[in-house]
Amino acid sequence: MSYAYDATNIFARILRGEIPNKTVLETAHSLAFEDIRPQAPVHVLVIPKGPYVSYDHFAREASEAEIVDFTRAIGEVCKMTGVALDGGNGFRAVSNAGMDGVQEVPHLHVHILGGRDLGRMLQ
Ligand code: ADP
Repeated sequence: MSYAYDATNIFARILRGEIPNKTVLETAHSLAFEDIRPQAPVHVLVIPKGPYVSYDHFAREASEAEIVDFTRAIGEVCKMTGVALDGGNGFRAVSNAGMDGVQEVPHLHVHILGGRDLGRMLQ
């Protein structure tokens, strides 16, 4: 694997406005939208607008402005969807990367899942 970014991926196409999405939040450097195959009552994907393949790529190469914006967007999505701990019952934030992480779309996305008991992820 490498950090080579494939600009034909489906989230790049969403960012270019080529295919529709159900936007939850848009900020200067981030976009949040509903997952097309929701695994829970709340299932939102938060992505940076920049061409980052994975969380490690982003953490190592994104600007501080992008990192702050993305982190705040995740917090805002948790609040907007009612899963934040100040008022809600909690959530799971997951980001799959690469082959072993079984990443389907090669553009960094954090899944925000909530609205039901998600069970144990790690045994
Ligand atoms: P996995 O499918 O193994 O969870 P990822 O972590 O790469 O792999 O997740 C990709 C996610 O993107 C999936 O949850 C899928 O439902 C979602 N998805 C794929 N295409 C779209 C789309 N056009 N709009 C919204 N969500 C999408």
